[in-house]
Amino acid sequence: MGPFRWQQAEGRRHAYHVEKTATPHPGIAFAALCGAEVTPEERDFIELSGWWHDPTCWSCDREWRVRAGFPDHDIPPLPKA
Ligand SMILES: [Zn+2]
Repeated sequence: MGPFRWQQAEGRRHAYHVEKTATPHPGIAFAALCGAEVTPEERDFIELSGWWHDPTCWSCDREWRVRAGFPDHDIPPLPKA
């Protein structure tokens, strides 16, 4: 699985590096793998809401795969904006 975790914030499900990023808390900004600095709210925590309700950040998904050493065929190109 690697040292990454998903965390929803600001309308996207981003990922972060658990060893380089403090554990996200509501109202505290964190740096996502895609380079964005985002601030989650209480509704963004799966422990509280029960599910991820926002779409995946595909830049984070790609960064996760690249950093975790996925083979090229498991690293899809980013969707066109
Ligand atoms: Zn992201």
